[in-house]
Order: sequence, then C-alpha cells, then structure tokens
Amino acid sequence: MMKLRLNTSVEIKDTLQEVPAPLRVRIPIESKHKPVVKKKQILGRGQVIAENPTKGAYGIGFVHSSIDGIVEDIQPDAIIIGPIPAPKEGEEAVAAPRPEPCSELDSLGNEELCRKLLEMGVDTSRFHATRNLIINGLNPEPGVLVSEQLMKDAQEVLKAGLQILERAIKPGVVKLVVANGKQLSLHGCTTVYASDVYPATIDPLVVYAATGAERPDNVDVISVSALYRIGLVAMTKLPLMEAAVSVGEKVYRVPTGMTVQDLLDTTGTAYGTEWKLALNGPMRGVAVSDLGVGIAPTCTAVTLVQEGLYPPVQPNPCINCGECVLACPARIHPGMLSRYAEFNMFESTQSQHVGACFECGMCTFVCPANRPVMQYLLLAKKQLAAQDEAVSTCRLQD
Ligand code: SF4
Ligand code: SF4
Repeated sequence: MMKLRLNTSVEIKDTLQEVPAPLRVRIPIESKHKPVVKKKQILGRGQVIAENPTKGAYGIGFVHSSIDGIVEDIQPDAIIIGPIPAPKEGEEAVAAPRPEPCSELDSLGNEELCRKLLEMGVDTSRFHATRNLIINGLNPEPGVLVSEQLMKDAQEVLKAGLQILERAIKPGVVKLVVANGKQLSLHGCTTVYASDVYPATIDPLVVYAATGAERPDNVDVISVSALYRIGLVAMTKLPLMEAAVSVGEKVYRVPTGMTVQDLLDTTGTAYGTEWKLALNGPMRGVAVSDLGVGIAPTCTAVTLVQEGLYPPVQPNPCINCGECVLACPARIHPGMLSRYAEFNMFESTQSQHVGACFECGMCTFVCPANRPVMQYLLLAKKQLAAQDEAVSTCRLQD
C-alpha cells in the first residue's frame, strides 16, 4: 500500500494557467444565500445572482455570474446559467448587462469597505479590525500547490489584497508563514518559516508557529488563496468570479461554477471509473459523486486518487490501538469520540471536547481499522450545532 507523502511544499514547474470560460456554469450557493434572479433572466458577467441577507459587513460574500448567460435553473445549492439563445429572425440580440468597475473601492474604509467587499463576493467572516494578521502561505494539503503557485505568479494581486486589507481592517503586525527553506515573500510582511509536513499547514498550527501561542485572541489568519480573492476584487474592481484551483501538477484560474467535468476535459486531465475525485485536498476534501458539480470560489483543488490506492473507510469497530491519539494535533481522543458519535452519544462528544477538533483528517488517515474517524466527529459537531440552533429558535419563540 502506497502512503501519501505528507510534505506539502513542492517545486513549482509551471506558471498559473488560464482556462477558457465554459458555455454553462453551475454556481454553488449556500443555504444562507438568497437568490435574486429569476429563471430565463439574461445576465451579464459579474452580475449578482444571490445575496447574503445580512445588513452587516461580515459574512459570506454575495454570489455573481462568471459568464454572460441566461438563468436556466435555480436549485437549493446552485444556480445554473447557460448560453443566451440566438435571437429569432428579425429580432436584435439581447445585451447582457455587465456591472461597471466599482470606483468606491478606492475611497471607502473600515466597516464600509468590508461591506462593499462582501457585496463583491469576498467572504469577510474572518475579518476583525486591528488584530495582528497571519497569511498562511503553506500549501494547504499534500498535492495542493495553490499557495506557492500564487506567491510565485500573482504577487501584484496579493499586494493589492494586502493594501485593501490595510484600509478595511487596519491589521497590526502582518506575518507571512512559508515552508522552511523556501525563498518566498510578500510585500510588507515579515516572513516566518514553519514545517510543511501536514497537518502543520492548517491554520491553528500555523498561528502557533508564528506566535508561539495556542488560539491567541488578537490574531486572525487567512490563506494565500483568500488573499488572492480579495486582491482580484481590489485590482479589477469587479466582483469575484474565479477560483485558483490545483489539478495535478498545475494550478488554474477557473471561472466559478465551471463543472468538474469541464475543468478536467479542458485541462486534458485523464479520469475515468478507476479514479476517485474530491473537491479540495486528499485529507479534508469532499468526495465528488457528480462530475456536474460546479467549482466554488473557495475551492483550492480537484484531487484525483486512483481507485484501490487506499482502502475505503468503513464503519469497522475501533480496535482501541491509540494510533489516532498519537497523530491528533488537537490532543483529543479521536477514537473514543468517534465511538461516542457512532452510537449517537453526542453530549458525551461535547464533554470530551469534540469542538477542539481541527478537522485535519489525520485520525482517519492513520486508523488501521479504516474507520471514518474524522467523519464521525464531523457528524457529532453537526448534530450539536443543530441542537443548539433548535434551542435558540425555541427561546426566540418563548
Ligand atoms: S480530525 Fe482527527 S486528528 Fe485532526 S484534530 Fe480532529 S480529531 Fe484530531
Ligand atoms: S486509530 Fe482507529 S482503531 Fe485505533 S483507536 Fe483510533 S479509531 Fe480506534
């Protein structure tokens, strides 16, 4: 059985690649989003299609069309936009209304600027004014090259992102964390070196490497990918309409909503029934069962793993070997927690600190019984969150 190489830093061989805009996109939306378009509506590239109903400045960003097109369908998790039909004989072609570049981005500051960025598609949930800021420049997972590729090829965009953050949240000290031995830097950031061996690349451990403190309350962390998205909006003054996505040994600028199938076909990536696919990396990614799923702006990779390379996880019994405890960076007891979750004892997972789990996937990776250990913990977290929401709804109705 081949073991996954857990080092994430790589030698970047190619430049950041472009892919042509597809004819049809399936743009993901979240349950919080409220669609603001109707079926058969003609849209221009950049036009808003779903809003976050919040009136505040912090939250998930609005969603925009990444192509000129017509709304073909509105589903609970996606809006499908296809090609505008050719005009009938004697009729004029309908012009797709594209938004103008937003000049206000140059003059706004503080919370007003955060709100504008949210309206332009930036996720501002993790923005807090005047805290120290850490840019996580480590590739997020093994085989996902996106951070180092962007630092190599998108310095101007990243600089624009830092400059607009300077006006939006006025961060204190800004540090960039990169892999030991890498000659990578960002304009205006102090560079800190850290291990690139997964899970050292996940945000809480990167914060620890940069500050020496666990969960410090005056520090925010964002990835280079997130900074790139902010920088794209700052530079173009247009809404966010693309993602930087690692596929194989290359990283592509992908229009949001491009389907996984179109992306694999366009990039000439071989796949078939002998391959398993995931959105994002191999440790924390979500399995793709439908190649028609669209790429979200926060997607960092489409990972392909050959069928049979790793044994599938199954609800096998825990043999209490303790391997997951040794691998867990959060210093909790994944095996025990997974057993509680397996038998619906969700309160016990809470008292045993399931909330401290970083969702790194190491417990699943090392488990000799091939149990879906992290997935049990995710189930417990979801159940506890649903219970909390039900309680607060009852309180509101009292
Ligand atoms: S996913 Fe598993 S190994 Fe990672 S922090 Fe959570 S319990 Fe620990
Ligand atoms: S590694 Fe797997 S079998 Fe071993 S204690 Fe953890 S969950 Fe149980």
